[in-house]
Amino acid sequence: MPRLVLASRNKGKLAELKALLAGLPWQISSLEDFPEVPAVEEDGASFRENALKKALVVATTLRMWALADDSGLEVDYLNGAPGVLSARFAGEHGDDAKNNEKLLALLAGVPWTQRTARFRSVLAFVSPDGDAWTTEGTCEGIIALAPRGTAGFGYDPLFYLPEYGLTMAELPAEKKNQISHRAVAIRKFRAYLEHEFPGTTARD
Ligand code: IMP
Repeated sequence: MPRLVLASRNKGKLAELKALLAGLPWQISSLEDFPEVPAVEEDGASFRENALKKALVVATTLRMWALADDSGLEVDYLNGAPGVLSARFAGEHGDDAKNNEKLLALLAGVPWTQRTARFRSVLAFVSPDGDAWTTEGTCEGIIALAPRGTAGFGYDPLFYLPEYGLTMAELPAEKKNQISHRAVAIRKFRAYLEHEFPGTTARD
């Protein structure tokens, strides 16, 4: 069974990626299993640049197949911010509570109709030799007036989905994994694997 390393140490993201990749006849591991792989500075100008950078470091350091997700939130009223800065919007990397507080403060008084936003996920799949393939997925929503829900991670409590009347953090994980930006991107990745590696793919 070929081995695929998920180029992340973000627990929320890893849980989702593992669920979304279930049933693939690839042995899935992550950077939690390879502490020796150096942390990558995510200083690219785009999600794609950062995803490629993360997957390339893992694939070439370990000489294994690697998959990276670089993702974030784009708020139209803020001209696409926080974008590539999503994880460290309020300064410290991965402080979800502070990031959400800052987002709400920047949108104080902004009417509902101007709070449109999307999550974007860009995946980079890189071979042990460094050959790369990328794809992406998006999910549209509205930034809520206050956080709601405890599931998921990051900006999920503020990401309201009008068609469900719930925030992403109020949806069960199975539902998020059907509709999220990451779910859309992973569906494209699975289709790519099926095409490029016939016989090493399966449906769960
Ligand atoms: P990355 O590790 O640089 O890709 O950072 C992704 C950041 O974007 C996370 O720390 C979150 O703040 C945000 N983000 C990405 N995907 C999601 C999601 O599915 N829900 C909520 N926030 C997300």
